[in-house]
Amino acid sequence: MNQEVIRLDGITRFFKVGTEVVRALRGVSLTIKRNEFVALMGPSGSGKSTLMNLLGCLDTPTSGSYWLNGKDVSKLEDNELAEIRNKEIGFVFQTFNLLPRLTALENVALPMIYAGSPKPDRLERAMQVLEDVKLTDRVKHKPNELSGGQRQRVAIARALVNKPSIILADEPTGNLDSVTSVEIMGLIEDIHKAGNTIILVTHEEDIARHAHRIIRLSDGLVASDELNSNIRTMDFYKQKVTAG
Ligand code: ADP
Ligand code: MG
Repeated sequence: MNQEVIRLDGITRFFKVGTEVVRALRGVSLTIKRNEFVALMGPSGSGKSTLMNLLGCLDTPTSGSYWLNGKDVSKLEDNELAEIRNKEIGFVFQTFNLLPRLTALENVALPMIYAGSPKPDRLERAMQVLEDVKLTDRVKHKPNELSGGQRQRVAIARALVNKPSIILADEPTGNLDSVTSVEIMGLIEDIHKAGNTIILVTHEEDIARHAHRIIRLSDGLVASDELNSNIRTMDFYKQKVTAG
């Protein structure tokens, strides 16, 4: 059970900007085990999104190696990365990134088209994940007919549809009010309990408190990496509502 799903060894990522080189990541090494729930924090520009892009196989490092489920993915070609991405990783973004012309159901089914699943399977599976995120009454709605929280639920359903083992969420509550943020964190907790590995970027300490481990980046390096001794789950807020 305590399998290592992610191992980064001396990862750097440099960007050439004109004549300058921006050192976004300067040597990151860490391991993440199956079913960990990690919050990734750090000031703006510290390298969080660059690291998430690498973890999600959207980008490759300048140097160092990335082992994902025991396979070195740091030097793969784009088409090989895309295949791994489709199978292993679910992405959730601050801005939801839904396609505006598609319904909730169509947005959720889209990654299954990329994965080559047959249509009946797609519809059945998409309906199932929309049920998991409690949106069965909104499947025919388009994004502009949904609230922010509902849009993020659609995006989370989409992230889950291909049954990935890892969920990468970059500021998933960044565009949501505090009540809706707690609801979305409750959903992420459920996904974690179902067995997924979660890596979540946030700059809010209260959001990070849902995670079991907090990694802080500073200037392209890991500044601290600690178990969260101060976990505050969804239940805390439920009790608060009941008490109040
Ligand atoms: P964070 O998400 O923590 O705010 P980023 O990973 O987005 O930080 O950025 C880290 C540094 O790398 C910043 O200085 C940023 O400007 C730079 N950077 C990130 N992506 C690129 C890119 N594609 N091209 C050039 N510079 C980049
Ligand atoms: Mg960022």
